[in-house]
Amino acid sequence: MSRPSLIGLSTPELQALAEQLGEKPFRGKQIANWIYAKAVREYDEMKDLPAAFRAKLAETHDISPLHLTTHKKSTDGVDKLLVHNGDTQVYECVLLPYEDRVSCCISSQVGCPMGCTFCATGLGGFDRNLTAGEIVAQYLWLQSLSPRRISHVVFMGMGEPLLNFANVTKALNLFHEEIGLSYRHLTISTVGLVPQIRELAKLGLPIHLALSLHSPFDEIRSKLMPVNHKWDVAEALRAMHDYHKATGRKVTIEYLLINELNDTIEQAEALATKIMRMPHVVNLIPFNWVDTGNGFARPSRERVRAFRRHLESKGVNVTERVERGHDIAAACGQLAGQHAGRFARRERASTLPVVPS
Ligand code: SAH
Ligand code: SF4
Repeated sequence: MSRPSLIGLSTPELQALAEQLGEKPFRGKQIANWIYAKAVREYDEMKDLPAAFRAKLAETHDISPLHLTTHKKSTDGVDKLLVHNGDTQVYECVLLPYEDRVSCCISSQVGCPMGCTFCATGLGGFDRNLTAGEIVAQYLWLQSLSPRRISHVVFMGMGEPLLNFANVTKALNLFHEEIGLSYRHLTISTVGLVPQIRELAKLGLPIHLALSLHSPFDEIRSKLMPVNHKWDVAEALRAMHDYHKATGRKVTIEYLLINELNDTIEQAEALATKIMRMPHVVNLIPFNWVDTGNGFARPSRERVRAFRRHLESKGVNVTERVERGHDIAAACGQLAGQHAGRFARRERASTLPVVPS
C-alpha cells in the first residue's frame, strides 16, 4: 500500500500538516512552492526545510503519487508518459508543445466505463477514478520535462472527467490556486453527462467545456456513444447552451469524423442548424485508427474538407485537430495503457453499467 502523497493537498492542508508534525504553518507554504511551483520529486531538493522535518515528512508521505512506466518521445516534439501509482493500473498523459503555448492532455480515470465504440480507452473498460493528486501529478511530471511553462490543460486523456466530478473539480482548484493556471486555460471534454454539466455550471468558473457530439442525429450518435440513450443530442446541446449562459464561455463541440458514417453533408447541415444559436467552435477530429472491430475508417482529406466547407458556408466556426504524436499513438482516443496488453480490461467492462447513476 503506498503512502499518501503531498501532491493533491492545498496550501492550507499542507500548513495543517506542518503543524501536526510540530512545525510552523509557513513550512506548509514552502512545501507548496517546492511541489507545485518547482515540481520537485525528491525531499533532498527542498533546501529551505530543516533536514529533520524533511525526514519526518518522508516517513509519512510520498511527494508524488506517480511512478513512471514508460516515456515515449515522438519525432514531432510530443512526449507521452505511461504512469502508475504502485499497482498494475496504468494511465497516460501527453505533453503538447506548440509555437505559441505548451499544453498537456491528462487522464481523469484509469480506463473509462462509457463504452464509446470508436475509442481505445472505452474498449478497454474501466478500473477506477484518479484522485486529485494523481490528476495534478500528471501535469507536474510533464512540466518537469518541459523547458517552457505548460499553460493549458485538457482533460482528453483516459476517462470521462465528469464521472469523477469531486476529484476533477478539486484538481481544477489546485491548478488554479496552487499552480496559477487560468481557469480559462483548463478544458474539460465530456461525453455529455447532463446533470454534471449543470453542476459544473453552478460553480460559476470560466472553465472551457467541450462536448463530444459526433453526430447531430440520435440514431447515429447512439451507435457511437451509448450515453446518448440516456441524454440525447437535444438535451446535451441544451445543457451546453445553458453552460454558456452561466459562464459566458464559448463552448466547443468535438466532432469525430468516421468515413461514410457521420461525415455526410446532411449531418453537417443538421449540425449547423442545431448549434447556430449558441456561441461555439466546432473542432473536427478525423478518426484516429483504433481496431474497433466495427470497420471504422478515417475519411479522405476531400471528405473532411467538404464537411468543413459546408459548415463554414452556414456560418459555423470550425477548427481542425492537427494530429500530433502519431508515431507513439499519443492522439485522442488512442490512450489505453497499452503496455498491459491491448484492451486488457475489455472483459471486466461488460460487467459495469454504461451510465452509472
Ligand atoms: N471522455 C471525454 C474525454 C476523453 S476522450 C470525452 O469523451 O469527451 C477525448 C476526445 O477524444 C473525445 O472527443 C473523444 O470522442 C475523442 N476520441 C476518442 N476516440 C477517438 C479516436 N479513435 N479518434 C479520434 N478521436 C477520438
Ligand atoms: Fe470514455 Fe471519452 Fe473514450 Fe467515450 S470517448 S469511452 S467517454 S474516454
